[in-house]
Amino acid sequence: MPNCIFCKIVHGEIPSVKVYEDARVFAFEDINPISIGHTLIIPKSHAENIWEISEEDLAAIHVASKKIAQAIRKALDPTGVAVLQLNGRGVNQMVMHYHLHLIPRTANSPEISMTQWNIVPGDMALIRKTGEKIAAAMR
Ligand code: 5GP
Ligand code: ZN
Repeated sequence: MPNCIFCKIVHGEIPSVKVYEDARVFAFEDINPISIGHTLIIPKSHAENIWEISEEDLAAIHVASKKIAQAIRKALDPTGVAVLQLNGRGVNQMVMHYHLHLIPRTANSPEISMTQWNIVPGDMALIRKTGEKIAAAMR
């Protein structure tokens, strides 16, 4: 899909901190993380939301979410991981390419709000380091 930022990430036209990839799925670190380790899982094939995505891609994303959540647990030892997926402007979907958020919370870090948060650019060095840690834990 032209001008879709996540399609560009899948095709390597925009850089990303990749943590996982398979035939249907691509996963990378969010550049405005709600918490450290905030990871997005997307279908390689463009679909806007839960109404458009194929069942095969949806299943692949959820299978991948389990693998990546296991890697996040191994890499970051969180107290919990929130799984969030927004569909439509009404719930503040900002990037119109389906994505599942994995949002870990570590000990003594703030509560995680679910459909609205401030966009604050993260520390890219820390994001990169965390992505590498999760990607390594995938092996
Ligand atoms: P949502 O559409 O569910 O509200 O969230 C979109 C998410 O994509 C946000 O958390 C935002 O930080 C993230 N995001 C937007 N543009 C980029 C980008 O270019 N690279 C990465 N890694 N994340 C992005
Ligand atoms: Zn797209």
